[in-house]
Amino acid sequence: MNLFDLTGRVAVVTGGNGGIGLGMARGLAGAGAALLIAGRNEKKNAAAVTELRGLGARAEAIVADVTVETDCRSMVRTATQKFGRLDILINNAGTNIRKPAQDYSLAEWHAVLDTNLTSAYLCAQAAYPEMVRSGGGKIINIGSMLSIFGVSFAAAYAASKGGIVQLSKALATAWARDNIQVNAVLPGWIDTDLTRKARKQVPELHDRVLARTPAGRWGLPDDHAGIAVFLAGKASDFVTGTAIPVDGGYSIQG
Ligand code: NDP
Repeated sequence: MNLFDLTGRVAVVTGGNGGIGLGMARGLAGAGAALLIAGRNEKKNAAAVTELRGLGARAEAIVADVTVETDCRSMVRTATQKFGRLDILINNAGTNIRKPAQDYSLAEWHAVLDTNLTSAYLCAQAAYPEMVRSGGGKIINIGSMLSIFGVSFAAAYAASKGGIVQLSKALATAWARDNIQVNAVLPGWIDTDLTRKARKQVPELHDRVLARTPAGRWGLPDDHAGIAVFLAGKASDFVTGTAIPVDGGYSIQG
């Protein structure tokens, strides 16, 4: 038995059209999974599908906004219509608004919480009956170093990512008897569109991250391919409710 073989498995990856989500999707594709990529940008979706098909995977995309409940439901419906089942959900779509903690408008607060946290619940809730029908499932929620630490310029983001860890534990507990494992991945500082913007807004960030990361480099989206395959496959069948850093040692540096 190959513990890391995902042949015949079907995955939905929110925000899978770029950055960490696409890195994880590449990992799942390499392990044999079929993929539905969900994002708002049709062009990025199409490019991701072309790339994943180039790796030999069955891949489709759906234009979906994870802050919209009906989009979360149609994402799951589309996966089952196209591929016949749903086994794996990666709740990766995310955003940030960086500003002093005292300055968020309610709309900005909700924009971050809805995109990063509420969406993960809505997509998991939509996926649950299909996973039960498939005899089990794997939900991978993307947290952050700000699931653990605080920073002055990202109060809403930190609240959402702390919530991701607790949501993962709650769902892991609730759905363990359904053979659904729910885990969080906590990326360190990864070179993506999201952090390119952060590096512009917070000038000292680039060097601060390099200095603190024992691995001595920023992470890459593909650094998340392996953890995705592990948490999506049989290898992790008794692993649930955890929050696993993928951070080059950032979170253990004293
Ligand atoms: P990117 O900006 O590269 O990717 C974000 C993805 O989310 C895009 O594919 C985007 O697609 C999608 N997305 C954003 N909002 C929505 C929405 N409302 N509905 C559907 N899709 C949406 O960022 P990263 O790859 O860096 O981030 C991915 C995840 O990793 C996020 O949850 C982020 O918080 C987390 N993370 C990132 C870290 C880093 O250092 N980069 C560190 C820790 C955590 P589209 O625009 O087409 O909708």
